[in-house]
Amino acid sequence: MKKLVDSYKRQIKYLRISVTDRCNLRCLYCMPAEGVKLAPPDSILRYEEILRVARLAVEYGVTSIRVTGGEPLVRKGIVDFIGELSGLRGLEDISITTNGVVLSEFAAPLKKAGLNRVNVSLDSLKKDRFAKVTRGDKLGAVLKGLDEAHAAGLRPVKINMVVIKGFNDDEIVDFARISINKPFHVRFIEYMPFNTEEGWDREKCISADEIRDIIAGELDLEPINERGAGAGPARRFKVKGGLGELGFISPVTQHFCGECNRLRLTADGKIRACLFSDTEVDLREALRNGSGDSVIKDLLFRSVMEKPAGHQINENIFKKCARTMSLIGG
Ligand code: SAM
Ligand code: SF4
Repeated sequence: MKKLVDSYKRQIKYLRISVTDRCNLRCLYCMPAEGVKLAPPDSILRYEEILRVARLAVEYGVTSIRVTGGEPLVRKGIVDFIGELSGLRGLEDISITTNGVVLSEFAAPLKKAGLNRVNVSLDSLKKDRFAKVTRGDKLGAVLKGLDEAHAAGLRPVKINMVVIKGFNDDEIVDFARISINKPFHVRFIEYMPFNTEEGWDREKCISADEIRDIIAGELDLEPINERGAGAGPARRFKVKGGLGELGFISPVTQHFCGECNRLRLTADGKIRACLFSDTEVDLREALRNGSGDSVIKDLLFRSVMEKPAGHQINENIFKKCARTMSLIGG
């Protein structure tokens, strides 16, 4: 069977699916307080439409699917959807990215339905600061969700911290310490440029190397060299003697485009071959006009051939993405 390989010979193995543009939080760097303008409900793909795309992507070489949003756990029927995904032959790994607000309620059913692992976004361990960044007072619920996810058998449970200078960089070491007594994988992510009212600027972005140096100044770090489940582009370390691990992700300062094996499906049915490129291929029309699988397949291959060599965040010509993260699917 022909595989999804782009014009730079990168084989696409990973599909990120946004199942909704809705969210129960309003993070400063992702959405305005009143929320983003939502797509009309009938423009959002139905689960059976998403499953059709997923099935074809898996047929042509995708082995790993991440479900995201918006907030994926606010879409009705998400557990059954994960159950359907897990029935796809050839799919080896299903993960979800969530803000964790309702995770404690969903962790066990999701695991039972076939979810393998979970990434929880968390940018502050301070109640007031958490409430400020998310515009929601839900820190306790998120922390409970992390423990429930582990108790349910989801492995690994990852925590994603977006580090923003002057906002939460004073918590970097506190986040690293979480991995000492809990088996969580804490990942530090550079702040990326999207079109939000918060206003990205280079000065607010701390490089992954700087973040690691800050931690290494206080804790004893050891590199981890083997490739773990879904390690992706993270450079991995461990605090000596700790139960969990640390990952450093540098989309801004050291992009990993050369090894990028991803495609994204937006909630409204567009394929985006690069997070930072606004070039999209529409699948929704073909999904709804009675087209056969060969048409959808051709559109998938076309979007893969349009995947750019890399993004240009560090070049003068870079412009912020037209969509925000919540609309692309993180
Ligand atoms: N609502 C879910 C959540 O927050 O995990 C899933 C969708 S959210 C858009 C996915 C991820 O994008 C989150 O980890 C969030 O922190 C991240 N994100 C949003 N805007 C970002 C930015 N400007 N730079 C880096 N990460 C960002
Ligand atoms: Fe919602 Fe996730 Fe965006 Fe926060 S980062 S507003 S939780 S979609």
